[in-house]
Amino acid sequence: MSQQLKQEIDRRRTFAIISHPDAGKTTLTEKLLLFGGAIRDAGTVKAKKTGKFATSDWMDIEKQRGISVTSSVMQFDYDGKRVNILDTPGHQDFSEDTYRTLMAVDSAVMIIDVAKGIEAQTIKLFKVCRMRGIPIFTFINKMDRQGKEPLELMEELEEVLGIESYAMNWPIGMGKEFLGIYDRYNNRVEPFRSETGRFMELDEDGQLIGDHPMKETSYYEQALEDIELLNEAGNDFSAERIANGELTPVFFGSALANFGVETFLETYLQFAPPPQGRVTQDEEVVNPVEEPFSGFVFKIQANMNPAHRDRIAFLRIVTGKFERGMNVTLARTGKSFKVAQSTQFLADDRETVAEAVAGDIIGLYDVGNYQIGDTVTVGKKLQYEALPQFTPELFMKVTAKNVMKSKHFHKGILQLVQEGAIQYYKTLHLEEVILGAVGQLQFEVFEHRMKNEYNVEVRMEPVGTKVARWIENEQDVKESMSGPRSMLVKDRHDNLVFLFENEFATRWFQDKNPDIKLYSLL
Ligand code: GDP
Repeated sequence: MSQQLKQEIDRRRTFAIISHPDAGKTTLTEKLLLFGGAIRDAGTVKAKKTGKFATSDWMDIEKQRGISVTSSVMQFDYDGKRVNILDTPGHQDFSEDTYRTLMAVDSAVMIIDVAKGIEAQTIKLFKVCRMRGIPIFTFINKMDRQGKEPLELMEELEEVLGIESYAMNWPIGMGKEFLGIYDRYNNRVEPFRSETGRFMELDEDGQLIGDHPMKETSYYEQALEDIELLNEAGNDFSAERIANGELTPVFFGSALANFGVETFLETYLQFAPPPQGRVTQDEEVVNPVEEPFSGFVFKIQANMNPAHRDRIAFLRIVTGKFERGMNVTLARTGKSFKVAQSTQFLADDRETVAEAVAGDIIGLYDVGNYQIGDTVTVGKKLQYEALPQFTPELFMKVTAKNVMKSKHFHKGILQLVQEGAIQYYKTLHLEEVILGAVGQLQFEVFEHRMKNEYNVEVRMEPVGTKVARWIENEQDVKESMSGPRSMLVKDRHDNLVFLFENEFATRWFQDKNPDIKLYSLL
């Protein structure tokens, strides 16, 4: 592999932002894109989110709901690095794709609302990152608003998420009294809304040099006191532990006021890892510079253009370089074909990509060849390990409105399940179909696609939120254990699964049947 290609790969930084809705992901993303020069006007990303952004080929469902299912990949250059931000849809568009996207990044940025602390969706997404052991960088947002005490938030990180933290900077006041951040890492103070320049220097004792009205405030005093406490009792800074995902560097700021964002970006880029290798099914680690082109599909976007019924398979490049017109092999089927059409994603519009390297995400036009988790290679035959399945929380019983369409109904379901759009379960005797999802949107997309692609109208009846648990010792399960609060079903691999009414029903069952060993997927 040429030195130039190695350098190209090495400058990639690919990450996703994890947060609970409203913490400020869109606002922060937009500011990052502005710094990277990828967009010119503030409001571009926002407008896309609220649906004011007219892009002709969005999915119908996207238009109806005014949300972005397309959830693109955004790319920009900063400080010699090429940054790829993968969007992780939240709100109603939360789905398994959101989790799978986290399989395609090398690090994550976790945004926390200073007033709300760690919220439900953040916990879920954090767990996936933790499982992968990728570095997680924390941005505590909305410091221009009154919120929780910073020390309390640091404690929350350790107690709720179980991750140790290191404050890279520390707020001086907050809300109306927010004066700036004390940058422990870069040894400077960055004043908020100041006309005296972006940074103020510190002396050897960590005090602001010279006279400054800030020094007279109790907020400055408090910040220094807190920092002393952190120096004495807090975790030590360790680049190695950050890289292993054991220690999260914490930054404070305000995305809306564009304060602390550039400092965050610069420091983040120093520690964020370049493209990492992947493990194959044979448990071999393949490094980005080892092989010619290879990658895996982590998401399939259907119906980008309803007239053509085409789909786009999102592929994370793991090794080497992709060039348009390349002959690639799909590991699962052994089929080879030429990739004529591919796409790279930018903030504003899709662009045709001529070449891309390890760390980048490309979109491959697809007529039904790809499934989620597929490995695509050139040359050496290899297959990356399967993507994990996630424990669904929402369930729907589904039937065809017209019984005459039963064949199409089953064909459609089979394909959509294989593709990874939705999870499939069936009841034991009647073999009624129950679909599982982690987000409501998956059902809507399912319904829409059954109608448009398979010409079958479906009836969906909510079975409600459930706790799904797989069973280690299936042989000990008796059908009599199945009841309205503990429904026994089979998954698509014919494994038995209990769908419990709620956590309470799960515990009740476990008390009554202590010998049955239950477990959940991720
Ligand atoms: P998302 O749902 O995580 O993408 O959140 P948004 O970026 O859409 O932000 C949610 C709301 O919080 C919007 O009204 C933003 O204007 C507001 N917001 C985001 N960042 C800040 C901040 O730093 N300070 C304040 N006061 N509001 C913010």
